[in-house]
Amino acid sequence: MKTRQFSRPRIVISKCIEFDRCRYNGEMVPSEFVRRLMNYADFIPVCMEVEIGLGVPRDPIRVVQVGDALRLVQPSTGKDVTELASSFSSSYLDGLPEVDGFLLKSRSPSCGIKDVKVYPMGEKVASLTAKESGFFGREVMLRFKDLAIEDEARLINLRIGEHFLTKLFTLAEYRQINAEDGMGALVDFHARNKLLMMYYSQKELKALGRLVANHEGLQVGEVMTRYRNHLRTAMARPPGCGSGVNVLLHAFGYVSSDLNPEEKAEFLDALQKYREGKLPITVAVGMVRTWIARFDQEYLRQQTFLQPYPNEFLDVMSNDACVGRDLWTAIRP
Ligand code: SF4
Repeated sequence: MKTRQFSRPRIVISKCIEFDRCRYNGEMVPSEFVRRLMNYADFIPVCMEVEIGLGVPRDPIRVVQVGDALRLVQPSTGKDVTELASSFSSSYLDGLPEVDGFLLKSRSPSCGIKDVKVYPMGEKVASLTAKESGFFGREVMLRFKDLAIEDEARLINLRIGEHFLTKLFTLAEYRQINAEDGMGALVDFHARNKLLMMYYSQKELKALGRLVANHEGLQVGEVMTRYRNHLRTAMARPPGCGSGVNVLLHAFGYVSSDLNPEEKAEFLDALQKYREGKLPITVAVGMVRTWIARFDQEYLRQQTFLQPYPNEFLDVMSNDACVGRDLWTAIRP
């Protein structure tokens, strides 16, 4: 199956991940994932701690509990940068162009989206049991929770990586269509993303379909805004394993009459093993992809579900076994 054309996602990234040696100790965080993504996405790097004048290298800052409030403090100097951090975060995020996602440094008191240690006041003290977001990360989560947001440590988990990439490339493509401002482009987008939306949310797929079919009386801009909101709702959470089976069975229906009994049995077996968590979804997806070429199946060829992000990342998806643990609840406000 040929690689489809992808729109380039626009992603705000913690500058210390692959872009600059701006960590407190003058180091940078290496990320193979980000290096690969650089070929397909446009990054907007930012380092809050440098922007508020803390310099590199610098003594570390911490999230500190003072009464009921959380403050951002540099214990070695006693400097409190809470107000600086808050006003920088607000003005920086106010000034951003439309973006598709954020990739932030894990556990940082500035950029972290979860698992940031909280300390009592004082320099040589142990952390409290509570975990929080960093000051910049929290503002991002409050304002942009519908976008693709992750930290670089969580991306090591392959299911999280797969969901992040799928959402990122889908939102990026929709952003481009929005700019073109035409109903024809929206109808085309909807047709190509039908199986993907079926995978993510049957309920939102129906709402999207109704919007595209019955938009009389609404301005095109209003239809597109409503469509974008439903699209983001559909992708707010990763799809369950059961819906992957349903969508693959649906795709199978387009080619099954051309397959021999052995091929059919092999496919259904791969699906069953995916359902049981014994095989990644890619095994069944790979079979459908080979049948698209063999039977010149145009409807399936255009479906983003079968190629939601560039092939270079397929090894991310290839390890996506169907495990039930919810990996997202803890990072959503
Ligand atoms: S985690 Fe954020 S604030 Fe800290 S060095 Fe990286 S970019 Fe700068």
